[in-house]
Amino acid sequence: MFASVTKLKEIANTARYPGDEKLQTKLLEDGKIKRYIEDNKKSYKTSSDHSYQLLLSHCMQVTQKSSPYLFKTIDRCTEILDLRDHELSVFIDSNRDINAWCRKSENRVTIGLNSGLIDCMEFEELCFIVGHEFGHAFYNHHLLPAYGICQDLKLTPSKLLTLMSWSRQSEISADRAGMLCADSLDASVQALIKLSTGGLGKGIIAFDVDEFEKQLDDIDSFIDENSDLMYTTHPLNPFRVRALIEFSKLSDFSNKKTKGSLDLDDINLQIDKIIEKMNPSEIKAHNEKNAEEKKTTPMDLFMVYAGYWVLSADREGSGEELASLEDICGIELVDSIKPVGGLSLDRDQTYDEFKKILDGDLKKLKKSEKCTILETLVSIARADGEISKLERVALDEMAGLIDMDVSFIDGILKFLD
Ligand SMILES: [Zn+2]
Repeated sequence: MFASVTKLKEIANTARYPGDEKLQTKLLEDGKIKRYIEDNKKSYKTSSDHSYQLLLSHCMQVTQKSSPYLFKTIDRCTEILDLRDHELSVFIDSNRDINAWCRKSENRVTIGLNSGLIDCMEFEELCFIVGHEFGHAFYNHHLLPAYGICQDLKLTPSKLLTLMSWSRQSEISADRAGMLCADSLDASVQALIKLSTGGLGKGIIAFDVDEFEKQLDDIDSFIDENSDLMYTTHPLNPFRVRALIEFSKLSDFSNKKTKGSLDLDDINLQIDKIIEKMNPSEIKAHNEKNAEEKKTTPMDLFMVYAGYWVLSADREGSGEELASLEDICGIELVDSIKPVGGLSLDRDQTYDEFKKILDGDLKKLKKSEKCTILETLVSIARADGEISKLERVALDEMAGLIDMDVSFIDGILKFLD
């Protein structure tokens, strides 16, 4: 037990991870995204009303009478996350997958719990899951429909990277809401384990939170060991577990005023540090900084050649694809590699160029850098709305060249499609 319900409520109001809020605000200010949301408001409302009607006719609704047990879970989460003034509907979906979902439309919050999920979770674990789903509604994540935006909009690579980064960071906030509702770190981690193993928990899956915590001292080695997993949507993402452990050190949890307790700013700073180190937009930021000093790093050069090589797998250097390269690498750098007279680059030559850098200056790439490279290349290739077969072949080849598994690319594409 961390704290009283009153205290938990208070914490929930300030617990949203600032990085999540910052990126969401930035993305919501983007003209293209703004227009998309405005244009889809009406159709979203219609489809949400329609699916609500379907749920009413196909699924069992949770009420105090139909399931006092589940009602207690919902009631607890509603109380802690202050959603009492919302029109709440909870449905049991007869589906054996270990899953839950939540939708918010205006003042209505609808949550679906699969029967398979309800079956395998203990009370507190279920509170974590419901709290996590409500957390998305509580922190207004629905204002930025990442999935629809990815499907329907052609975003510049840098915007797409920001959107993917935001999506990961929004999970941190939702997990915090979940943990406040579960009122237990162990139950929260157990719930994540069960989500990722199809419902298997203690006794079968060995995951020792204390043992995991002991390995967290060194951020660099943590990132190096886990960076590929940190990009996945897998529930037992080490980054999410770590973020939960950090959050459990919050000094506001009354009985946790021990030596290791931290205030919220310190905890957020810890998370910032990790995100900064695996920041996908680092290449561009790096480039902007260096543009003033007129210095191009080997990584900049590698990205511009590698990016061109992936893009030109199926089409010869059109204006559109160069624009997406410019978005990531900067216009000057892209200009600098163009042959005199503005002719198209030779693809084999760009391969030789980036391979030379890879075998030279970038010989000792860190795993986090490899992840950034692949995620960036995926976003460059996806700038025209899809990744063609030939681009995919090039991406896979690149993964092989930097000694990464192609499943990492699958993981990123899973988020996008
Ligand atoms: Zn979530």
